[in-house]
Formats: sequence, structure tokens, C-alpha cells
Amino acid sequence: MTRALLLSDVHANLVALETVLREAPPGAPVWVTGDTVGYGPDPADVLALLRERDAALVAGNHDLAVAGRIGVGDFNRDAADAALMHRSWLSAEDRDFLASLPLVSSRDSFSLVHGSLREPVWEYVLDREAARACLERASTEHCCNGHTHLPTAFFWREGIRRLDVREPRDGETVELRGRRALVNAGSVGQPRDGDPRAAWALVDTERGTVTFRRTRYDVAETQRRMRARGMPAFLIDRLSHGI
Ligand code: ZN
Repeated sequence: MTRALLLSDVHANLVALETVLREAPPGAPVWVTGDTVGYGPDPADVLALLRERDAALVAGNHDLAVAGRIGVGDFNRDAADAALMHRSWLSAEDRDFLASLPLVSSRDSFSLVHGSLREPVWEYVLDREAARACLERASTEHCCNGHTHLPTAFFWREGIRRLDVREPRDGETVELRGRRALVNAGSVGQPRDGDPRAAWALVDTERGTVTFRRTRYDVAETQRRMRARGMPAFLIDRLSHGI
């Protein structure tokens, strides 16, 4: 295996996921750092497609809420409404599958987690301190996370206190060699950095590089499906703006 597709926060956006998979190297392993469901219109189809691709999935807060493993008390109103809709739409088998997802998984020299290794489900890694706390707990050289919906990379070189941070642009390749990295590919299904295109990354484990990518998809089609399924208006609107 040399190249893996790194996805996060797909959030039941099938149109975005299918578009990204068409741009990726065929047959590449798929790693997903959580929140596969929640928010979007197509939770069952997204789960089916990722299971067909034998994707490595870990649990995010939305996955556990939809599974019924955690309540929706910590969610805002729209997120809670969407999670409860998904819970009612999915089969018992799909809910059991979500409930059985590991919090942490490892592939090659990467640990996969949704929030952070300090707090796998809920922690937002937004600064160097949190990134370092995550990497310090890793049994692998590198770590991949999600949850913030913001493409980011933190780098930690042995003996140097301060971590480097990158907010990578579309097409940017970062080198991992000689330093430890915490990589967040951003969100496929609900980007929040002001760019509505799906965010994802390609990890080349042989070369030791990560290439960050953005892919335009048919946002209007996802919105049409959400409207048809009676989903909250704010969740529909935000996809146009990437917020
Ligand atoms: Zn999310």
C-alpha cells in the first residue's frame, strides 16, 4: 500500500463522497476519521458505500449519537434534529454497526481518531497545545483526526518545543519525513472554512507526504435531497457557503 485516501466528517453527504471517490486513485484504501453520519441526507447510502470500499472507520460524536450510544443533549438544535432523523431512518443493523466502531484505529504509521487521542470523541484540536497532547499519546508516528471541519496539519520535530502549523491550500503537498504530524483532512460533507468544496487528502505512506485536495460537487443536489427529507433549513443553507 502506498497511497490512502484520508476522509473525515462525510456527514451523510453521498453526492460529495461519490465525487471525491471518483477523483481518487481507484482501489486506494479509505481511512475515515469519524462523523460518517449526522447532518446530511443519505446516511444509509454513505455507510453502504464506505463498507463496500472496506473503509477503516472510527466513531465520531455524531456516529455515536445516531447509534444511540450517547444522547443529543450536547448538540445544538439542528444537529440534534438531524441525528434523531438519522437514528429513525437507519436499520438496526446500521445502528449496531455505528455503535461498534472503535474510537481509535491504526493503519500503517498513522493513528486515526475523530477528536483527539486525549479525548477521542469530543476534543477540537485548534491549537498547538492540543495537537501536542494528541501526538504525545500516539503509539504511532503520526495521527489523523477530524471534528473541526478545517483542513490543518501540525508538525512536531523532536527536541523542538513549538509545533509548526499549516492551513493547507488545495493541491498543497506537505512532507512528513523527520517530524511527527497530526493531519486533519477537513470535511467531505460539510466544510467550515468558507470554501464549499469537499475537503480530503491523499496520504502517500511510501514517500511520506500528504496532499490536501478540494473537490467541487453538486451542492444543489445534496440540498435538494435534504429539503425533500425535511431537514433543518440552516443545515441546508450552510453547504452553499462552506460554513
Ligand atoms: Zn463533524
